[in-house]
Amino acid sequence: MNRTEARPALAAVDQHLVDGVLAKNRRALAKSITLIESTRHDHQQRAHQVIEALLAHTGNSIRIGISGVPGVGKSTFIETFGLYLIEQGLKVAVLAVDPSSSVSGGSILGDKTRMELLSQRPEAFIRPSPSAGSLGGVADRTRETLLLCEAAGFDVVIVETVGVGQSETSVAAMTDIFMLLQLPNAGDDLQAIKKGIVELADLIVINKADLDPQAAALAQAQLKSALSMLRHTTPGWEPPVLILSALKSDGVAAFWAEVTRFRETMSASGEFIAKRRGQALAWMWELIDRGLSARFRGNPQVKAKMPALVEAVALGHTMPTLAAQRLLGLFEGK
Ligand code: GDP
Repeated sequence: MNRTEARPALAAVDQHLVDGVLAKNRRALAKSITLIESTRHDHQQRAHQVIEALLAHTGNSIRIGISGVPGVGKSTFIETFGLYLIEQGLKVAVLAVDPSSSVSGGSILGDKTRMELLSQRPEAFIRPSPSAGSLGGVADRTRETLLLCEAAGFDVVIVETVGVGQSETSVAAMTDIFMLLQLPNAGDDLQAIKKGIVELADLIVINKADLDPQAAALAQAQLKSALSMLRHTTPGWEPPVLILSALKSDGVAAFWAEVTRFRETMSASGEFIAKRRGQALAWMWELIDRGLSARFRGNPQVKAKMPALVEAVALGHTMPTLAAQRLLGLFEGK
């Protein structure tokens, strides 16, 4: 049964969007994403109805998360890789999670000169990071956009993020395979290991190998041995370390082969679908936690007592436990 036909509640204008996305119409896709990114409550509600109507048509892409510090070559890699995928007859969407964009105007995907060749291809769809709100809000909008891109028939969805801060965790939580792009020098490896980003990676790629192949090989060996001591992100998958040159388009086919092997291995073990189910449930719980927290903080009784209790705890006059109990009690109307 086509679930979209079984939902008469959708307004004509939104049904038009749903039909347009399913017909792979880029304008309909862009308009739906604009609804998702709107800060207006009624727009967001409409956006959620549109996504719900499209949900049966989602899930068919491979979702690849890509992270790396600025300058490592993310956009060069995505452009090269995207063009390679198009050559293979595939369609690719590129999204981003960049919470700094609301402050700085965007450090990724904002620059129009990035991925110039890819952006001109009808088989590619590139969307900058939503800029409104907290990391959680930005990540929510990107997740929703990812689902729309799947409904619009994109075979590969790439979600890019910068290798700073907490955004990696969000991207790893919405993608099937999380890839870390590294520079061929040991200092960079240590940084990523320290920050725990390496632990999130299903695949590590050392870029710019053309500059210094020896250094790249050394970095590969070091990362391999570091990885052998870490807990793997995805059960049953040992993260490979690849060497690549995005600029020279060298190693991209091998990268795609690893992604395909990941998908096949994980699908065979049932881990692929289990991971997605776990991610969907974790997302729901995260929204519940965030929603509860916002309601708690907005509750008039809580707001009235909060400043005095905050001060009492800060000065050491009240136990944090008791203050928390008191405030939660007020929230529950006790
Ligand atoms: P991003 O900030 O991570 O998106 O990095 P960019 O893709 O903008 O790349 C930063 C710089 O590194 C640019 O000048 C690229 O041309 C260069 N670059 C990217 N990949 C390679 C590579 O494989 N080899 C070399 N030599 N330079 C590269």
